[in-house]
Amino acid sequence: MRLLLFSDVHANATALEAALKACAGHWDRALCLGDIVGYGPDPNEVVDRVRPLVSAIVRGNHDKAVSGASDLDDFNPVARAALEWTRSQLVPENIQYLRDLPGGPLAIDGIALVHGSVNDEDEYVFAPAQALDGILTSPRRVTFFGHTHMQGGFSYDGENVQRIELRPNTGVTLVTLRLEPKTRYLLNPGSIGQPRDGDPRAAFAIANLEQQKVEFWRAPYDISAVQDRMERTGAPEALVLRLAFGR
Ligand code: ZN
Repeated sequence: MRLLLFSDVHANATALEAALKACAGHWDRALCLGDIVGYGPDPNEVVDRVRPLVSAIVRGNHDKAVSGASDLDDFNPVARAALEWTRSQLVPENIQYLRDLPGGPLAIDGIALVHGSVNDEDEYVFAPAQALDGILTSPRRVTFFGHTHMQGGFSYDGENVQRIELRPNTGVTLVTLRLEPKTRYLLNPGSIGQPRDGDPRAAFAIANLEQQKVEFWRAPYDISAVQDRMERTGAPEALVLRLAFGR
């Protein structure tokens, strides 16, 4: 079974379509790690696309906030402005879908899914010291998380937590991580719609546990088309500009 793992689409339909086109035929089941809306210009299109696509999904902090399952006070002014706009655009059916999404961890298909960390769906896991707790308490040996928008993750061999910084170079579509026996993993497929690891291409992963490998993928997309749509909706300039830098 080949599992497509994707996260943080953030209402960027152009990036999502480019990613799906790039990996067409390379996966059997799709799993999403949350934040399908917020920031981007296409909230309804993305919810409509993700809904029938995924066999499992956990909610992100933006999904929660936009649907009223949590409040907007925890967000900075730029993110909050985008969330308020998103809320004004979403049709009631899609707001309900977002409100009903489960929190992680969700154990499925031999792996676990979380948005932030295993023990706190809203926690950002940036450093090895933060990763260890979740690696040890996860219901599965391989756990996928999102939220940081950084492709890569962490491994734990029983002694040390190692950072995994495995990303395809410019012009390269994918790199493969071989899973070592007796090692536990906390892996991030990166963000489809707003990467922050310095590569503006849409990021995602494909896992094949039978073959003990995880592929980290990148797909280029028409960034300026998305920026144009954002400008037309009056999106904060910082959100528009960052797409081109992948920061
Ligand atoms: Zn996000």
